[in-house]
Amino acid sequence: MSGQAIEIGLETVFPDDPIDVLIIGAGIVALAAAQKLQAAGRQVALLERGGVAAATSSGNAGALAFSDILPLATSGKIARVPRWLMDPLGPLSIPPGYALRIAPWLLRFWRAGWADRIASSIAAQVAMMGLAEAEMDRMIAESGLGDLIHPDGSLELYESEAEFQDSLPGWTQRTKAGIAFEHVRGAAMADLQPGLSPQFIAGTFVPGWRNVSDPFIFATRLAADVEGRGGIFLQGEASQVFPQESGARVVLTDGRILAAKQVVVAAGAWSRRLTDLLGDYLPLETERGYNTTLPLGSFDLRRQLIFGAHGFVISRLTTGLRVGGAVELGGLDRPPNFKRSAAMLKKAMGFLPGLSAEGGVQWMGFRPSMPDSLPVIGPSRASPHIVYAFGHGHLGLTQSAGTGRLVADLLNGQPPAIDPAPFRPSRFR
Ligand SMILES: Cc1cc2nc3c(=O)[nH]c(=O)nc-3n(C[C@H](O)[C@H](O)[C@H](O)COP(=O)(O)OP(=O)(O)OC[C@H]3O[C@@H](n4cnc5c(N)ncnc54)[C@H](O)[C@@H]3O)c2cc1C
Repeated sequence: MSGQAIEIGLETVFPDDPIDVLIIGAGIVALAAAQKLQAAGRQVALLERGGVAAATSSGNAGALAFSDILPLATSGKIARVPRWLMDPLGPLSIPPGYALRIAPWLLRFWRAGWADRIASSIAAQVAMMGLAEAEMDRMIAESGLGDLIHPDGSLELYESEAEFQDSLPGWTQRTKAGIAFEHVRGAAMADLQPGLSPQFIAGTFVPGWRNVSDPFIFATRLAADVEGRGGIFLQGEASQVFPQESGARVVLTDGRILAAKQVVVAAGAWSRRLTDLLGDYLPLETERGYNTTLPLGSFDLRRQLIFGAHGFVISRLTTGLRVGGAVELGGLDRPPNFKRSAAMLKKAMGFLPGLSAEGGVQWMGFRPSMPDSLPVIGPSRASPHIVYAFGHGHLGLTQSAGTGRLVADLLNGQPPAIDPAPFRPSRFR
């Protein structure tokens, strides 16, 4: 396989010289997998139907949130669900037409929050986060991305003593995982972020939290590095993956066929369209998220602020201030409801009274989410040559490099860097 971009015609490409590893998708997970495979000596091609990192990986909050080790379905969050659902523009919404369709996923989500599941889920997430951080640092160094990383820490904010007390069990879990943090009040809190509304009575500072300067810039710089090392970017949409005796073939929607020795499905929230056809029925749904990016100078933001009770954050990017989050369990086809972006911005104006809300750009992205808050990383039941890497939910940027490392280990037949069992696709059978 040559290292330069190629024109693909209407027949099997590389019929006698299959692609070494073909990755479906070019979001942050696919790009990190490509980088890690290249570092392990493999040649890669990425098949993307849109632009590089143009989907969910372009507009997220840019956090490397290695301290986010708790599953979403913790008792604290589940308790808030009824109140959240009452507000049609609140932190969690389910369009009425989608409620029945997503009911089985919600049932699994609720089950994942039971005490017997929480401990193993946290253990898996702690292992993944340890790997993710180490592999992210390695990728940043190898791909020359250090100038895009901002070690500002994060500040989570609470409006009442009860809310602060409710957060404490989660912080105890982080202590056990060796994550440093500091609860702050009064002047210490104001020093970390001047200009906060007095409604916030306490906060928790996580000094090890880092943000990327802008997730789209981070991903496109990584893509340029992958391309510089001989990676090939192909334009096209995969419609089906067929296992072969050695390797696999990928049929595109325009009829072209790509032959590869190994295939990685890293198509984010759209991966299920391919995995169902391979006989892996995985409960992948999308948690649609919204935000508004305000121009630089809209507020003197010192670090990422987290408003857990309201389900959104404000991130400090070099390209602006990003206000957003929320979860809309509404599937892949419904048009966006940007009233959600506006609702979070309105709240943010109350939380930061000096915030100028002019000139914002609204965005919606499709988080690829599994009900147990763990990604899917591992081989398809159809073939060991087809490996899945998707379902990272709120943490795809954070866990991209760790996922890439596991994918490379699995495809190269190396002992995996961490136990991949909690992430195996077959866990839902
Ligand atoms: C509001 C919001 C804030 C977030 N904040 C953070 C954060 O701060 N930190 C963090 O770690 N995560 C965050 N996330 C989550 C993170 O953005 C996602 O987990 C991550 O982007 C998923 O990456 P991905 O590569 O799996 O998917 P995507 O970025 O969606 O990439 C999938 C790609 O596959 C392509 N594709 C799909 N189907 C096909 C096909 N059949 N053929 C060819 N190409 C195909 C798509 O075009 C797309 O480019 C946030 C998400 C949202 C919505």
